[in-house]
Amino acid sequence: MNPPPLSTWARNVSPSPTLAVDAKAKALQAAGEDVCGFAAGEPDFDTPEHIKEACIVALKAGKTKYAPTPGIEPLRQAIVERYAAEYGLKLTAAQAIVSPGGKFNCYLGVLAVCSPGDEVIVPAPYWVSYPEMVKLAGATPRFVLADDRTGFRLTPEMVEAAITPRTRLLILNSPSNPTGAVYTRKELEAIVAVALRHNLYILSDEMYEHLVYDDARPTCIATFGPEVAARTITVAGFSKTYAMTGWRIGTTVAPLPIAKAISELQSQMSSNVTTFAQFGALAALKEKDKTGAAVQRMLVAFDRRRKSLHAELNRIPGVSCLLAEGAFYLFPNISSFGLKDLDFCNRLLDEQKVAAVPGSAFGAEGYLRLSYATSDEIISKGVARLAGFCAGLRR
Ligand SMILES: *Cc1c(COP(=O)(O)O)cnc(C)c1O
Repeated sequence: MNPPPLSTWARNVSPSPTLAVDAKAKALQAAGEDVCGFAAGEPDFDTPEHIKEACIVALKAGKTKYAPTPGIEPLRQAIVERYAAEYGLKLTAAQAIVSPGGKFNCYLGVLAVCSPGDEVIVPAPYWVSYPEMVKLAGATPRFVLADDRTGFRLTPEMVEAAITPRTRLLILNSPSNPTGAVYTRKELEAIVAVALRHNLYILSDEMYEHLVYDDARPTCIATFGPEVAARTITVAGFSKTYAMTGWRIGTTVAPLPIAKAISELQSQMSSNVTTFAQFGALAALKEKDKTGAAVQRMLVAFDRRRKSLHAELNRIPGVSCLLAEGAFYLFPNISSFGLKDLDFCNRLLDEQKVAAVPGSAFGAEGYLRLSYATSDEIISKGVARLAGFCAGLRR
């Protein structure tokens, strides 16, 4: 007799397509191929030295035991101080939760407010994990697509039209992965007003808040007043801003009842984030001068690459690309080639050894996601190959 089938959760989950492309590119690289990788969703920089040092000191001092589930007290305190300093947002340490990676913070946020049968509005192009998290909570994602004609930003009317009596949660992500789009405060206020009118919760994924360029500014939605703060779960973290993806530390700040629920869920699912790693995160927030200088260096490099990648993409006949103002991604439109984006990416990797993620992985057919968290040399070499590939398609 064969064993019984796996669970509905195991059978219905889609593996992360971004990690899949990256894995294929890395396998080619390991086999000796000269691959230009634009697929990775992480900074190419190492974690700043003072952060690593604080973690090593904590490890040597024996910070190797269980810690409180929602995080070590000084870190929770430093998180709320940061929100006060950056946004004037008043919180208590009890409202801050440290979880094993911003991804898990998002998942726990969804689990805290969504039940089976609920609907969740997910703006597309979306970060690949949102639909899966919603499904794992037994809820249903409702996608609302904003393409490059509106700068990949939803309007309040588009949100309004997707709301049903079952809608419980609206997910927002500005700056956005995968498009790099940054909403203005005004635009977010108008969208949040719709959520308020329909009594929805809001999960605001502000993971890229510090990676903004030109005149763009991050917006912390929980600052829109007490009524909005009472329904907003704010996720941020250390991975992208401080080049700490492998540390697995993310943060949630939320109204007290939600923060308590998240902490209780986490107590049964993972317990605390690695104790000595939390001391590294604490140094990132406390040693402001060193951290600020490191972030500034990364921002300057990202901005230079953003501009050069954008300019070179738009020089390719048939490709059009908006100049996104946040994160480290561009999302060029390749629909003019009349090829499915998945086929485009597979052939681009096979024939030219250039790794990019198809827009359809993010719910938007006809685009590519290119990460510019890679060296200037890879960017110019990779775009030259992409241009050659595109020229071949037009012949
Ligand atoms: C990378 C990312 C996260 C989570 O990052 P972690 O590595 O889990 O801390 C969350 N949201 C978005 C949009 C991201 O791109």
